[in-house]
Amino acid sequence: MSSYSYKSYNRNNIRELPQVKYLSKEKYKEIEMLSLVFPFKINNYLADELINWENYETDPIFNLVFPNKNMLNNSLYDKLNYDFNNASEQTLKNTILDIWYKLNPHPAGQLDLNVALLNKRQIHGLQHKYNETVLAFPSAGQTCHAYCSFCFRWPQFIGVQDFKINLRQSNSLLKYLQHHPEVTDLLITGGDPMVMNSKSLENYLSELIENIETTNIQTIRIGTKSLSYFPYKYTTDKDAKAILNYFEKIISKGLNLSIMAHINSPNEQKTPVFAEAVRLIRSTGAQIRSQAPILKHINDSAEDWAEMWRQQVNLNIIPYYMFIPRDTGAKEYFEISLIEAWKIFSNAFRQVSGICKTARGPIMSALPGKIQVLGVSQLEKDGEMKDALALRFIQGRNPEWNNIPFYAELNENANWLTELKPFYGDKFFYEDNLMQIIGKKKHLLKQANESIEEISDHLEDTV
Ligand code: SF4
Repeated sequence: MSSYSYKSYNRNNIRELPQVKYLSKEKYKEIEMLSLVFPFKINNYLADELINWENYETDPIFNLVFPNKNMLNNSLYDKLNYDFNNASEQTLKNTILDIWYKLNPHPAGQLDLNVALLNKRQIHGLQHKYNETVLAFPSAGQTCHAYCSFCFRWPQFIGVQDFKINLRQSNSLLKYLQHHPEVTDLLITGGDPMVMNSKSLENYLSELIENIETTNIQTIRIGTKSLSYFPYKYTTDKDAKAILNYFEKIISKGLNLSIMAHINSPNEQKTPVFAEAVRLIRSTGAQIRSQAPILKHINDSAEDWAEMWRQQVNLNIIPYYMFIPRDTGAKEYFEISLIEAWKIFSNAFRQVSGICKTARGPIMSALPGKIQVLGVSQLEKDGEMKDALALRFIQGRNPEWNNIPFYAELNENANWLTELKPFYGDKFFYEDNLMQIIGKKKHLLKQANESIEEISDHLEDTV
């Protein structure tokens, strides 16, 4: 199998990418300007093996990787375009910052409601939303193999400290998990933690792994795009063996290791090196699950999803989630309505055998939790039968909410939970409880901030 030396390209060195010759002048300029708002990153494997450059305008991977003008609404685009061509550097910077804030950098309470608190102190770089699962954002993994503009992680990539979440001290992770025996799953995320080499990954995890019996962790999940965007990482890369050995070591501690592979389109799974990377990862004892958002222009076809799930099962990957893109970044460009997403999911579901039906979706990862769109039901209301959208929690902030069907008025245009109205009454069943949970979290966070202020006052007094 041929090997690749990884080389990545971004706004600064895009001219060195050999395939740039395929871009029209207008397209090049569009990318140059929009990448100030939506940074991009591409590597030689993606460019050489996954993009059809002859038809780049309609190529799904090209449209995933590079920004285009439809990703901003008209007024934001016009403002950016004007300032890019006419304004001072400072004005342009302010405009870009203003656009970033308008793109909802932290959807669903990510920076406040999910914070992890220990002894009234906030642990930066950890997020704890659901009882059983903690998310860790290692500081060395705050970049990704791509910078998708729909991704809730995009604030990680734009270089503004305010928007970042990252964990510098791995011993905070161990301490936090020791104090939270309800946590069974640790999800290492980023960015993409698999941009780290084996040494960084080991540095980050070793204290936890060596003391794993002092926690209740049973599963370590690693969310990554590396499998489809640079599979050589697990095959011929000089660090590949060390990575696979470290996976084996994690598993030898009695842990389940699950690679949560982010795969958007069937083509990402078709190269021989992808299959080889899957085989090698599986040979360590790790499992691989696949997940992706459903995206207009990229994978909004039932055939694509059915094909992806079938290929995955053939390769020993477990189909897992179809997500609705979160309300952040270039969501408007990629979004499709909830009802459309449900139709595509259902149509794909009908095309595959039972073994592929581990896939769940479409799912919104929203403020109250992960909510699945189950479909349309006919229910009686005001003496007549009406269409209602059936929903359920896969994971709620309160586990008591899980798996209880509830209903919203059918709104063909709704793209997100906040655009839905309850079918019965004026509130969804969980809303009062959600307010209590939010109130409690805010109170704890306030206490934590006060204790930080007290500590800094104390330090100032003693200096
Ligand atoms: S984490 Fe996944 S969706 Fe987000 S930027 Fe990376 S590849 Fe894209």
